Amino acid sequence: MRKKIVAGNWKMNKNLSEGLSLIEGIKSGLTAAHKGVDVIVSPPYVSLTEAVKAAAGSAVKVSAQNCHQEENGAYTGEISTGMIKAIGVEYVIIGHSERRQYFNENSASITKKINSALAKGLTPIYCNGEVKEERESGKHFEVVKRQMNDELFHLSAEEVKKVVIAYEPVWAIGTGLTASPEQAQEIHAYLRKLLTDKYGEAVAESISILYGGSCKPDNAKEIFSKKDVDGGLIGGAALKAEDFLAIIAAFN
Ligand code: PEP
Repeated sequence: MRKKIVAGNWKMNKNLSEGLSLIEGIKSGLTAAHKGVDVIVSPPYVSLTEAVKAAAGSAVKVSAQNCHQEENGAYTGEISTGMIKAIGVEYVIIGHSERRQYFNENSASITKKINSALAKGLTPIYCNGEVKEERESGKHFEVVKRQMNDELFHLSAEEVKKVVIAYEPVWAIGTGLTASPEQAQEIHAYLRKLLTDKYGEAVAESISILYGGSCKPDNAKEIFSKKDVDGGLIGGAALKAEDFLAIIAAFN
C-alpha cells in the first residue's frame, strides 16, 4: 500500500525557536482531517535534535535535508547518516535539485548517500526531475529515466521499497510555476512504469511518489487527486503552519 505523505522542506529557513513554533503550530492544527497522512518536517541540521523532541508523541516525523555518504572522518562541515539516525531522525532528503545545482551533487554521490541512508535505517526521500530546457525540448521522460537508472536502480527490490521518491520539476521549484495535475500524473505514471519494469508491479505499487514544485493550498487538492501522486514535497508553503496544514487536508 502506498503511503500518503506530505513533507515540508524548510531549506535554510527558521532558526531554532522559529522552527519549534512551526512544529507546535503544525501539531496543534492536526485534526481528523489529516488522518492517514504521514507528515514530515525537514528543519536545518542545527534544529534536528530539538525538532525530534518537539515532534515526539505526535504524528509529525522529522527529516534531514541532506547527509554525507561516509560514516565519519575528515569531512569538515559534513554530517553522516549515522549521526542523523542517532538523534531519532527518520528520513533524509537526497538529491534535491538545489544540492545538485549549488553543491555539485551528482549521480555518484547521490547513489552513495542513498546506500548510506538505507544502511543506517533512514528513509531516503529521493528527488529527481528535469530543468526548464529539458522540459521545453521534450526530454523530461528521458531525463528522469536516466536519473532512476543511475541513482536508484542499483538497489534490490527490498531496498527500493524503503525509498520515497519525489518528482520535482526544477522549473517549478520556488518559481510559482507548477506542473499541471496532468503533467504531474503523466510523469508519475511513467516513474511507476519504470519501477514496474525493473522490480515488478507489487514493488512499484508500494512506493510513494511525491510531487514537488510550488505546491500550495490552492493547487494541492487537484494534484493529489491524481492516481499516481501520493503526496507532496513542499518548500515555501511548508513555512507557515496554516498553509502546510491546508495542503495536508487537501487529501480529503
Ligand atoms: C522544494 O524545494 O522541494 C520545493 C518543492 O519548493 P517549493 O514548494 O517552494 O517550490
